[in-house]
Amino acid sequence: MSTEGFNPFKMAQQQFDAVAKKLNLDQATCDLLRFPEREYQFNIPIRMDNGTYRVFRGFRVQHNDARGPAKGGIRFHPNETIDTVRALAMWMTWKTAVVDIPLGGGKGGVVCDPHELTLHEQEQICRGWVRQIVRNVGPLQDVPAPDVMTNSQHMIWMLDEYEKITGIKAPGFITGKPLGLGGSLGRTEATGYGVMYTVREALKHLGIDIKNTTASFQGFGNVSQYALDLYTQMGGTAIAVSTWDPKEKRAITFRKKTGISFQELIGITNKFGEIDKEKAKDLGYEILDGTAWIEQEVDILVPAALENQINKDTVQLIKPSVKIIAEGANGPTTPEADEVLKAKKIHVIPDFLCNAGGVTCSYFEQVQSNMNYYWTKEEVLQKLDQKMTSAYHSVLDLAIKKNEYMRDAAYMIAITRVADAVRLRGWV
Ligand code: NAD
Repeated sequence: MSTEGFNPFKMAQQQFDAVAKKLNLDQATCDLLRFPEREYQFNIPIRMDNGTYRVFRGFRVQHNDARGPAKGGIRFHPNETIDTVRALAMWMTWKTAVVDIPLGGGKGGVVCDPHELTLHEQEQICRGWVRQIVRNVGPLQDVPAPDVMTNSQHMIWMLDEYEKITGIKAPGFITGKPLGLGGSLGRTEATGYGVMYTVREALKHLGIDIKNTTASFQGFGNVSQYALDLYTQMGGTAIAVSTWDPKEKRAITFRKKTGISFQELIGITNKFGEIDKEKAKDLGYEILDGTAWIEQEVDILVPAALENQINKDTVQLIKPSVKIIAEGANGPTTPEADEVLKAKKIHVIPDFLCNAGGVTCSYFEQVQSNMNYYWTKEEVLQKLDQKMTSAYHSVLDLAIKKNEYMRDAAYMIAITRVADAVRLRGWV
């Protein structure tokens, strides 16, 4: 989904081009990596509950699978575009590479608004999506997962359709499945916890005690909820959260300067991660504008909703108190804003490193599903912490050694790994 005039694929290519130049990548490798390997666009015709028919547009993009099967989520969003899916698929390639898991990058989507669809209609879309792409996805080809506005229920419908068509049990086809049906313990928490494992390491690097810090979050969906939960458990104080208000059709910010309780806020949040304004007021939250989350006098900003949120305009709103930006969302910061953040010397934990906990745990889920043997939650989270911490330090070490911005250092590691894979395979 793209905000007006903003093309995430152009931005993903721009980021790639800048680092490819630094790495002196040859032309053929650049040509291969700046476009997806394969992409599919298709119709999904559905019989609606009222008996009429509607046709939804579906996408799947496989950006690169040199290091393993493509991996990436499926979004349901009314403003989904092929360029958003291309960008996200490309970022998945860098994400799996930077955390060094044997998977490639893919992404999918359907142009639809689940707010306006019954569960039965959503099920038809999930099954229709699988029917259209079944020959090109699978545990050894391309493994989907949930993303914005899709969840474990959508994944199990998709798996069920895949297994019906292929006639085999293949729980490794998809991740983010419900527990007991091939899902992994820890998957729900994984992205948000992963964000906070990297923040914990960044704070250690900067010599700051988490107990003396405050943070502001954009979004209160899957990523932000668990990030905020772990942050407060580790002793930090969350003071603001911004979410979408579907009634007013605009974003609003909820602020409680004395500190937000995760349990309290989750109690007034719906399944789309939208907070009930009236209930929030009763609980003593101040209601502010949608952009207020970025203007808070905090140590840490966690954009965890959408792309293009820290751009040339909003970057000016960031207060001098901010020391860390932990990018829970994909593509929240534009290259123009990056230049300002570099100048302000803010420690940015780039998206494809910061939010890689989700795909890392999806990888663990796939391994468990393929083995048909499941680990305990402690085991999953401990393995996740290990992967995220080690990936963060590899990026930090390179950033320090080469005096690079964190995003560029992460790109250098990821692109080098993928470029090595395509070269070793003899593709270019
Ligand atoms: P979600 O659908 O669970 O939650 C999205 C949240 O963003 C909701 O709270 C919603 O109200 C809020 N939001 C929407 N528009 C907004 C706006 N204009 N201003 C403020 N808030 C707004 O989604 P999620 O799974 O938490 O994903 C959030 C981001 O993280 C996306 O960029 C996604 O691609 C990325 N991501 C998700 C995962 C994952 O495992 N879920 C993994 C990696 C990256």
